[in-house]
Amino acid sequence: MRLVLVGPPGAGKGTQAQFIASHLSIPKISTGDIFRYNVSTGTELGQQAKAYMDRGDLVPDEVTIGMVTARLLEPDAQAGFLLDGFPRNVPQAEVLRKLLADWDTRLDVVLELVVDDDEVVRRLSGRRTCRQCGRIWHVLFEPPSKADICDDCGGELFQRDDDREQTIRHRLDVYAEQTQPLIAFYADDGILLGLDATGPVEEITERAMIALRRFIR
Ligand code: AMP
Repeated sequence: MRLVLVGPPGAGKGTQAQFIASHLSIPKISTGDIFRYNVSTGTELGQQAKAYMDRGDLVPDEVTIGMVTARLLEPDAQAGFLLDGFPRNVPQAEVLRKLLADWDTRLDVVLELVVDDDEVVRRLSGRRTCRQCGRIWHVLFEPPSKADICDDCGGELFQRDDDREQTIRHRLDVYAEQTQPLIAFYADDGILLGLDATGPVEEITERAMIALRRFIR
């Protein structure tokens, strides 16, 4: 299955992407994760992306598209994939459509995780990331036993720049302006599937798997 997951920051895309991809036995390709990995290892790509990410802006299309194209050409993505965080605007979606058409294929479904802005701010501004192992905690929903220390590895927890409230509000604006138009784009194609992304994580995954059943081929 060739699947795209869209939704505002904080909709739980990363978490759901992980579960859905594993249920479907396809690789999860997350542009945010690939960028963060490149930032933390100090590659040239990471250096190009960092300032945009810290501000909550989109990394320029030419950088992002080159990276995704290379990833989609890898052997594990040939039989299907789940894209998390890409496309993020209509030009990226057009490039993806063209790329897949050149490879004689197309997307099967675009799953939209639907959640309102206040819920997004509540979820994201409480997130704390471990500097050492990368595990994510939440001050309300999954607090570590000692404040600011990771239970798993003892590393120090910190708030990602893009999880600060002001940046979150900006990311929501960027989403509304640049990514929201994708919803109409894919609805026109008849492959958009909206999903209520509130409630317990496992229930959302279950709803997603039920909704996706008819697209599995
Ligand atoms: P995410 O983890 O998906 O929220 O992505 C984190 C950040 O990476 C975003 O705020 C952007 O700066 C950058 N990013 C991720 N995916 C894309 C994309 N498809 N296009 C441009 N920038 C992206």
